[in-house]
This record gives sequence, C-alpha cells and structure tokens, in this order.
Amino acid sequence: MKKIALHWQIMLGILAGVAFGLLAAKLGLASFVKDWIKPFGTIFINLLKMIAVPLIVTSLVKGVADLKDISKLGKMGGRTFGLYIVTTALAIALGLIIVNIVKPGNLIKPESREVMLEKFADNASSKIAAAEAVKQSGPLQPLIDLVPENLFKAATDNTGMLQVIFFVVFFGIGLIMIPSEKAKPVVAFFDGANDVIMKLIDIIMLGAPIGVFALLSALIVELPSLDLLTALLGYAFCVLLGLVILIGIVYPTMVKFLAGRSPAFFFKGIAPAQLLAFSTSSSAATLPVSMERAEEHLGVDEEVASFVLPIGATVNMDGTALYQGVAAVFIAQAFGMQLDFGQQLGILLTALLASIGTAAVPGAGMVMLVIVLAKAGIPEAGLALIFAIDRPLDMCRTVANVTSDLCVSMVVAKSLGKLHAPKPKEL
Ligand code: ASP
Repeated sequence: MKKIALHWQIMLGILAGVAFGLLAAKLGLASFVKDWIKPFGTIFINLLKMIAVPLIVTSLVKGVADLKDISKLGKMGGRTFGLYIVTTALAIALGLIIVNIVKPGNLIKPESREVMLEKFADNASSKIAAAEAVKQSGPLQPLIDLVPENLFKAATDNTGMLQVIFFVVFFGIGLIMIPSEKAKPVVAFFDGANDVIMKLIDIIMLGAPIGVFALLSALIVELPSLDLLTALLGYAFCVLLGLVILIGIVYPTMVKFLAGRSPAFFFKGIAPAQLLAFSTSSSAATLPVSMERAEEHLGVDEEVASFVLPIGATVNMDGTALYQGVAAVFIAQAFGMQLDFGQQLGILLTALLASIGTAAVPGAGMVMLVIVLAKAGIPEAGLALIFAIDRPLDMCRTVANVTSDLCVSMVVAKSLGKLHAPKPKEL
C-alpha cells in the first residue's frame, strides 16, 4: 500500500483536530480535551524541542569543520544576515503599504474599541509587563547575550539557542585550526551523532498527525470567543494578505531566480515544516523538521542548513515583523492617530529590531510589539484590541517565518555552490 505523504497526514491531523475541538466545545467537553488530549500535543512539542539543541550542536560542528577555511564562514555569515535583514525589511514595508491603503483601524467603531479595551485589558497588561523587562536592558544587551557565561546553562534553555550557536561555531573554528588527523575523529563522532538525531526526527514525525490533532483541538476549545471578530476582519485581512504575498510570491520568486529551483519543488519539500509551524506557532519547535527538510528534500548542503536555519529560527521573523508593522499602524488608526512618513519609518526600524529579538515561541511577537508601540508613541493598551485574534495570526505568521528561513537557506546554498540535486528517492 502506498504511504500517504507526511504533509497530507499532518493536514488530516489539523482538520480532524479543528473538527473535534469545535465538537468538544459544543458538547461542553473542554476540560476533557485539556486533561486528556492536550498533553499529547505538549509531549509532541517537547520531543521536537528536546531534539533542537543536540541537533544544532552535532550538525553545526560538522558543518563548520567542513568549511575548511574560516573565510568561508565569514562569507556565509555575511550572506545569511544580509538576506535576513533585507527580507525582513521588505516584509515590514509590505505590511505598512497594505495597512495604509486598507486603513482597517478606521473601521473600528468607538463602542467596539471600548469593549475590547476592557475585555482584554488584563491580557494586554501581562504582555506589557513582559516587554518591560526587555526594555530595561541597554543597547548592547543583545551582543552580551550572544556570549554564554556557561555553555551548559545556555544549552538547558531553548531561548539560549544563539549562545549555543556562538559556542559551536567557535568550537568549529578551533577544529579547523588543529591538525586534521586530530580533528578527524571529533568530526566523525559528531557526524555519526547527527545521523542518529536525524533518525530520531523521522521517528518523532511519525507522531506528527496525532500531535497536531491534540494541539489544534486544545487550541479550539481554549480560543477566546470570537464575537468581536468582525471588527477585526480588516486588520486580519491586512496581515494575511501580506503573509500570502510573502509566502506565495516573494519567496517562490527568490527560490526561482536566486536558487534556480521551481516553486513547486520548494513547496513540496517544505510542506511538512510549514504545517508544523502552523500547528505549533513556534519556529523553534519546527526547527528540527526544517533542517531535515532542507537537507534531505531541498538539497541544501548540511554545512549551510546547519548554520542558516538555527540562526534564522531565532532572528529571522518576516511574518512577525510584518504583523508588528500592521498591528502598530492599525492600533494608531483605531485611536484616531495619524502617523506621518517619518513615524512609519521609525516603526519599520523598530519592528526590524523587535522581530530579531522575538523569541521563537507562540505569542512572543506580541510582547515585542509593545516595544514598537512605545517607540512610536502609540498607546500600549491598544494591544487589547488585537488580542482576540492573535493566536490564529500567530500560526500564520510563524509559517512565513519558517518559509523565509528555508528560502534563504536555498539562496545562500546556491550562492556558495552548495545546493545539490535532491536525493533521487525524493524526486
Ligand atoms: N510564534 C512566532 C514564531 O515562533 C513568533 C511570534 O510572532 O509570536 O516564529
């Protein structure tokens, strides 16, 4: 019997999860879902997160060591960061253009504004408090944060991913600089360990349909009531339109012209990663699958994928950046504020930095949005306006975040002559 492709299996899990969640909510089974179904989703996400740090370490050591000379690392780093910044800036500009044309904030009636401000005030203030901690740090804090004071401490916390990457790249550089007969067994060890981890990802993904079923059904029963949705349709439309343009036009065009591969090939290769990003709302949880897809289905060389993708999962968030731009202007419009070109340029710059600083976990984009709002002088309480619809948008923007990382990995690989023909079984 022919096996159903993984992305179809995940798709079925998503649809069944939504249907079951709706049914359970109707039948008043929300606490049953929370107690007996949701844990399987949590276990699935934990399995993926558990594998992330060992995966980065094993594949990146080998990747950096394979580069053989350090100048290649500089070249790859330069291109990766360059592309990440350009795509993110483009995404924000796109969001700002759309929100200025559609003007969804003007559609909000003052009464619904008041209702929402009241209803979600508590949720908004918890995000504002979380952002306060970030705001208090100095301008060079991100640079300090890059260097771990203790490697093992950094490796115990998935938010310390960049610190782990810093150490591993440093370790890889050391490996390049010692005599090759000494380096060889070290590289061989990490290479073998990496194969083991890749196998574990395959095994974990066997549970993906059940995992996403559990996640989606729990999400549906926990969703806030959507009676305010209509007021937010214009805003959601702007975010989704921007994301669709990014995912449906910008990235495939880059893949076609800068990496020389067809969009169909690209989407077929990355579909499971996209669906997982949608179900988990977390680029970090999706990372192991993105790496596996890039290496085994897109033909991106391991040394490129293992460098570009973990960094991308932490710093490259085009979907989040686009959303932050749209949300900031939307909230300003809803409060009757007019933002001039200079102020919007300021939003572009802060959203660029805020998206880099956003953690790759559900809802993090909203915390950093507080900083964008504060810098632009837009009332932070306005966060309450967009709360009801944040989770579905988070799911969609995470898909854009992951798609962008995978697109950039192909472009960087191509530019370095490291984009191979995909393995025959995947053709
Ligand atoms: N959930 C997003 C991610 O992990 C971040 C966000 O926009 O909240 O990519």
